[in-house]
Amino acid sequence: MVKSTESESRKLLGRLREAMASDAEGQARLDRITQLIGDSMRTEVCSVYLFCDDDTLELCATEGLKPESVHQTRLRLGEGLVGRVAKTGKLVNTPDAPSAKGFRYMPETGEERFSSFLGIPVQRLGDTLGVLVVQSRDARVYSADEVYALEVVAMVIAEMTELGTFVGEGAALSPRHQQPVLMRGGTAQEGAAEGHVWLHEPRVVVSNPIADDPDAELVRLTGAVEELRVGVDRMLEMSKDGDKEALQVLETYRMFANSKGWMRRMEEDIARGLSAEAAVEKEQSQARARMGQVTDAYLRDRLADLDDLSNRLLRILTGQGVNTGAELPVDPILVARNIGPAELLEYGRSLRGIVLEEGSVGSHAAIVARALAIPLVIHAGQVTVEALNGDHIMVDGDQGVVHLRPGESVITAFRDKMAMQAKAQERYTSLLDKPAKTLDGVVVALHMNAGLMADLPSLESSGAEGVGLFRTELQFLVRNKMPRRSELVALYARVLDAAHGKRVVFRTLDIGSDKVLSYMKPNDEPNPAMGWRAIRVGLDKPGIMQMQIQSLMRAAKGRPLTIMFPFVAQFEEYKAARAAVMKSLTREIRLGRALPEKLEIGAMLETPSLAFAPQKFFDDVGFVSIGGNDLKQFFFAADRENERVRRRYDTLNVSFLGLIEQIVKRCATSGTPLSFCGEDAGRPIEAMCLAAIGIRTLSMRPASIGPVKSLLRRADLGAVRRIIDDARARGDQSVRPAVMEWLGQQG
Ligand code: PEP
Ligand code: MG
Repeated sequence: MVKSTESESRKLLGRLREAMASDAEGQARLDRITQLIGDSMRTEVCSVYLFCDDDTLELCATEGLKPESVHQTRLRLGEGLVGRVAKTGKLVNTPDAPSAKGFRYMPETGEERFSSFLGIPVQRLGDTLGVLVVQSRDARVYSADEVYALEVVAMVIAEMTELGTFVGEGAALSPRHQQPVLMRGGTAQEGAAEGHVWLHEPRVVVSNPIADDPDAELVRLTGAVEELRVGVDRMLEMSKDGDKEALQVLETYRMFANSKGWMRRMEEDIARGLSAEAAVEKEQSQARARMGQVTDAYLRDRLADLDDLSNRLLRILTGQGVNTGAELPVDPILVARNIGPAELLEYGRSLRGIVLEEGSVGSHAAIVARALAIPLVIHAGQVTVEALNGDHIMVDGDQGVVHLRPGESVITAFRDKMAMQAKAQERYTSLLDKPAKTLDGVVVALHMNAGLMADLPSLESSGAEGVGLFRTELQFLVRNKMPRRSELVALYARVLDAAHGKRVVFRTLDIGSDKVLSYMKPNDEPNPAMGWRAIRVGLDKPGIMQMQIQSLMRAAKGRPLTIMFPFVAQFEEYKAARAAVMKSLTREIRLGRALPEKLEIGAMLETPSLAFAPQKFFDDVGFVSIGGNDLKQFFFAADRENERVRRRYDTLNVSFLGLIEQIVKRCATSGTPLSFCGEDAGRPIEAMCLAAIGIRTLSMRPASIGPVKSLLRRADLGAVRRIIDDARARGDQSVRPAVMEWLGQQG
């Protein structure tokens, strides 16, 4: 039976290929296909429904239903049996359609005469594009072989749809990849960008789904699988001494690559008329469909591994490689499921924007994107499925919105917004050499946050007075092995050179929490943000801390040096860290090396506990910098990485401002310099309120300096202070509404 179906489906596919190769117009091709299927399956009706928008299916061609219903009959997703197939992605095979659950009678088609119904989802890589239906008068259940043959045909139709085979004059439909799509995600770096899609991992296009020589296809498949196996073995060999988790993943890859079941299914697909790449893709599609259904995280990961492996196999078969920087389109916007910081750095500033399906605000990729000031939208739906290389795309990093293939009105509105931003930018540029002096004469020092060499040019272009926070861990994160001391010395020296005498506050390693070094043993902690991180790691692993401190001293080579310790929760930790610096200093003296001309040692105040430390701490510490991102998450017990609670509490909440004000007072009592370096420092309204309660130094991303300065120069801090005090006296939860209203009155 299988044999006869094999040759049947091969025959059918052979005829389909002729239809594909013909130069008939889109609609004519689709009509021919339904006719061919109807004939060879000896069934009275064959119809193709395709999505005309996200939740509407349109009858695009039919053999057997009334011709006038073509392009007239429409169904919503989930409506009728066809809608059910599209919604669930699962086939429906019933001898008595009118009694089946969800049946909806469509009089315009004349389908009431047909009893049996077989609907197969037209899918490509787990993405449903439409439904292929056969119906017949007699009440029959279609056999497993018929179902199989139709599944193969559905897949070919999916490929053809993707390739735009049905488009052209007399188009059967507007294919999905030509329609505008709006995606709402989250914002990870503000800014607007317009450009063209650059898929980090381009979709492989299978242009030859049908093959007439199964033996030749089998040889191609076997050869490609062999190449894949050799590649996986080579990777395993190379990672032998490496990370255990990476090894486990590779072991799984090897298991799949040698899986007899996987191979057998693909061989069967080829025997039924598919080309080698179409067979790989068919199995991949099915794995993806399963991936959408399993809830077990481990299983999902394994299916994802299989998905990745299939991609590799497709690349080998089609010769379509991974993107290389050389072929970037003009104004490239990177589109990816996710991306690592090192890969992102390789693209560097050539990118206009980034859109990710996954990612998080605090991820390393986001940190790099921010450092490079590239607008980044995360959690952007299925953007890698929707987008094709070269597509026109607009990224709104402020709203977390992505417009793919936008229509005219969106383009106009978006460009207006970009023009407004450019105008604002001009205004900021004109303020470059002016101080952030408020109307009532208070001068606020604006510094910038950095972490990569790539940030340093911004010191000049942003007008920052110095680097208020240099996140040294970024250099560790973007490598795959621990940097050597000599490398660190060279790097820190380059940073100081580039700063041309401006103050740079080097924060020692803040690893742990979300910042995991691939080359350090991972810690399985239930709450990493509150776990073994930052100074806790530094004090427990003095070797790394000493190496870093020593590198900084050698890089300073007689120049002033500022070192700051992250995440200090109590006085003792600061004392221990300071002692480590002193130890290094003594060593350098003993070795007769040049000492820093001036050495400042400070602490980041990121846990509420430090705000309540003995006054002696504030007397002793060289300076304090409030790490508002962490301080806020611990003050409100709201994870900064958790989209559900991240924005729940306002920075301008009176309780939080109360805490900041207390820190201001305690530092003032001791005469200790204080700054604020969390993200809020770069938000103009927040920055203005922080200044109003006494913060005199703010450190922020370079791009925020202009907007913050611009508002501060127009603000009367005394008046803002009164608004804040009144709001508190009234018992407001946040001072924001009162401040916004006042700003509105000021125009
Ligand atoms: C902070 O917590 O506010 C801070 C500046 O440090 P990071 O964002 O690197 O944790
Ligand atoms: Mg922090």
